Amino acid sequence: MRAYDVEHVLRLSILSPSEKRRMKAIVFRAPGDLVLDDLPLPSPGPGEIRVRPQSVGICGTDTHILRGEFPAARPVVLGHEIAGVVEALGAGVNTLREGDLVTIEPHVYCTSCRYCRQGQEHLCLEKRAFGVHLHGGLAEAVVVPSRTAYRLPPGFDARLGCLAEPAACCIHGMDRLSPRSGAPLLIIGAGPAGLILTRLARLAGAAPIVVSEPNPTRRAAALSFGADLALDPAAPAFREQINDITHGLGFDSLIEAAGSPATLELAIELAARAGRILVFGVSPMHATATVRPFDIFVRELTIIGSVINPYTHERAVNLLPRLGLHQLAITQFPIDNFNDAFAAQASGAAGVKVQIRPQD
Ligand SMILES: [Zn+2]
Ligand SMILES: [Zn+2]
Repeated sequence: MRAYDVEHVLRLSILSPSEKRRMKAIVFRAPGDLVLDDLPLPSPGPGEIRVRPQSVGICGTDTHILRGEFPAARPVVLGHEIAGVVEALGAGVNTLREGDLVTIEPHVYCTSCRYCRQGQEHLCLEKRAFGVHLHGGLAEAVVVPSRTAYRLPPGFDARLGCLAEPAACCIHGMDRLSPRSGAPLLIIGAGPAGLILTRLARLAGAAPIVVSEPNPTRRAAALSFGADLALDPAAPAFREQINDITHGLGFDSLIEAAGSPATLELAIELAARAGRILVFGVSPMHATATVRPFDIFVRELTIIGSVINPYTHERAVNLLPRLGLHQLAITQFPIDNFNDAFAAQASGAAGVKVQIRPQD
């Protein structure tokens, strides 16, 4: 496998005179500075494809980027949850055809650092992501290496297809946590990832599954995704209800899927002895939590990180039809209304999942 040519991607704006086509793209220029720009249509180089994104999800990471809370290139086209149609093939691409509906695994790796060379590419020292460091899918077109594209069944709903990316991250998280069947599990936060994790926990046999979520709409969604109980952490009876369901012992497995120091502190508080806590949510990069080391020591807690989706994208595609994602309240916006879409994502006001249709 050749090292991915980042320079090539950065050079994509230099096109031959015969290709003076343009495209709309949502460009992050600086914290708080997101614009709809007009960029040259990129051409696929050897081993690459050009995709016309149909549905592109916005997630908490995008909100963090926009607020300057997550490291990203500037300027860069955002959008890393991508489902679209293959429009053009670069030289040597023979695994895909024009017209294929695909979902993109948005990361590229250096292939030669210590982590790449020991099978941990997702920890690569030079990891790059489309929509974070390289131009992403919130545009009328995006060029990616063909090996990052996974074919979806013809006619598959692109709104659900672009959820393969967060689903693949959730599968990696569950691999890391490996919850036991019949052992109590808590998920903190019922955004799209929290809901997918709820479904995966149900498929894995964890029981009972409790979801902690302040938003009543999301609590109702958690029940339809497989939670036995969905609790409001601000309710006075919250801890009493948790004590009742765990017999005062706490949870064996806990997933922090809200992305805040306070919810990590809550997970540590509610962990049973020998509890395993998955840090899944993306907290602001400089945020700090207060932890009593004695708690970790005396209860033999295990705190587990989970970053992105190594080797899990194909499994996510296989699982998509079984995740019940049609139950997600998805709100879509045309590309021109990107400001409304990002405002809806930041406020949590528009259902559970916000997506943009770059072709509209
Ligand atoms: Zn995301
Ligand atoms: Zn590497």
